[in-house]
This record gives sequence, structure tokens and C-alpha cells, in this order.
Amino acid sequence: MTVDTAAYLAGFRRRLDLPALVDVHTHFMPDQVMRKVWAYFDQAGPLTGRPWPITYRDDEQVRLKTLRDFGVRAFTSLVYPHKPRMAAWLNEWTAEFAARTPDCLHTATFYPEPEAPEYVRAAIAGGARVFKVHIQVGAFSPLDPLLDPVWAILAESGVPVLIHCGSGPAPGEFTGPVPIGELLRRFPGLRLIIAHMGTPEYTEFLDLAESHPLLRLDTTMVWTDFSESDAPFPPGERERLRRFGDRILFGSDFPNIPYPYAEAVRALERLDLGDDWLRKVCHDNAVALFDLR
Ligand SMILES: [Zn+2]
Repeated sequence: MTVDTAAYLAGFRRRLDLPALVDVHTHFMPDQVMRKVWAYFDQAGPLTGRPWPITYRDDEQVRLKTLRDFGVRAFTSLVYPHKPRMAAWLNEWTAEFAARTPDCLHTATFYPEPEAPEYVRAAIAGGARVFKVHIQVGAFSPLDPLLDPVWAILAESGVPVLIHCGSGPAPGEFTGPVPIGELLRRFPGLRLIIAHMGTPEYTEFLDLAESHPLLRLDTTMVWTDFSESDAPFPPGERERLRRFGDRILFGSDFPNIPYPYAEAVRALERLDLGDDWLRKVCHDNAVALFDLR
């Protein structure tokens, strides 16, 4: 399976004359945390709601080699706390991971807690290139007053924030486009990347992209058979995908995907939006955003 995916992606890159892929949505985390995440997926618990076999359940070094064999030249180590007093420790781990993994973008996270402004500022000073927020798992509102100073710091710094805020695969108390619209009204300088194109509220998040030029979206899992069977993307929105082609970034959710990695790229090709669109989404947009040249 891995060999087939590597060959498929090599052919894809050759056809598009792409030197590599950039994957903005991958998960690397402390071993014990990753094991808990996998155990959660194994139970098909309420946040996933359906069987979710992890395709790339390997040791960290094997997973890194797999991504590199797929031709991914830059990726992230998305971590997210589900309780207080966890984010600073995760940020220590991601900083250490980035230091020993030069092709990983230094990633950080936060939680609504009094210490957050301090450790977010420290993470940026330490070189963090992207933050991750998971509204459903974190079970907090993006409008929590404890986060006001954090959003202000992030808007001021311009460091992108990849945020899982759509109501898929299962809704949370604070998921959906409405709080995000309000957040952007308050902090228009934020560079949010909406994970999973906002699944399943695709149209509402594309509406937000209309009025917020800094808003970006990642393709993670969208248009795969797995996602389409549960939360189909509205065919009528295809034209906006084309129009926002400079603001859509390839993401995969590697390693926690219930299908081979090639499926994520094949899903993009199936949209039939042209080779230029694919080049931008799979490489150029992220290279520009993270200044990877
Ligand atoms: Zn993810």
C-alpha cells in the first residue's frame, strides 16, 4: 500500500512538474499522547462516530520516513490540549521535535487559561510557525475572554493558526462558523486556516472567506470517499474552490487516516480544477505562506 502510494505521488509530482508536496495538516505528538488518540479512534467514540482504522500506525521515525518517501518536503506536528495545563508541555515537545526534524514546521498550541499569553508569546519568540486549535476536542469557545490577549498576539505576529472549528465529524458545543465570524470581526488580522474546509459547514466557511481575505482553508480529508459518504461537499461550490485557489492548502491528517495517503491527493485531482490549481494547493500556497523558499 505504502509503495503504491509513493509511486502514485511520484507520478503526480512528475506530471505537474512539482518538486515536492507541502502538507499543512499532519500529526506528530508525544508518544503517549498519540497512543491515546489512536485508542480513541479504535473505539469509534462519539467524536468520530464510525470505524476509523489508522492506516499509518507506526513508530515516529517510520512515519517520518513514510512522509518523506511520499515527497512531502514540509509538514506540521499538530498537537492540541483537551484540558488546562497541558499546552505549555505540548509546546515544549513540538519545539524539541522541530529542532530535530528540520522539515517539520515548528508548531504550537494553546488553551484558554491565564498562562496562555505568556507561553504563546514564548512559542513565537522560539520560532513557532503555525498554531493549532481544536475547538471540538478542546471544548472551549474561540470567544472565551481568556483568549482575547492570545488572539491579539497572534493577529499582531501574523503567525497562521490552523483551527478545527467545523462541526464534523461530530458537532461540539462551540463548533461552527458563527463564533469564527465573530472572532474575525474582533481580530481581522488573524491568519486562520480552517481545517477540513470547515466540514460539514463548507458553504458557511466559504462565505467567511469572501469577507476575510486572510482566511485560508485546508483540504484535509475533504472529497475523499470516506468524507463524501458522511459530509458531501456541495457540487455548487466548485466555482468558489477555483476562485479561492490561492487560499486553499493541502492537508492530509497523516498518520490518522482511514485510507492510503494517495486518496487525499486523488480526491483533489478528481475535482478537475486544473493543474495550476493543484500546484498551488499542493505546494505553492504553503511555500508562500510559510516562506519556504
Ligand atoms: Zn487533524
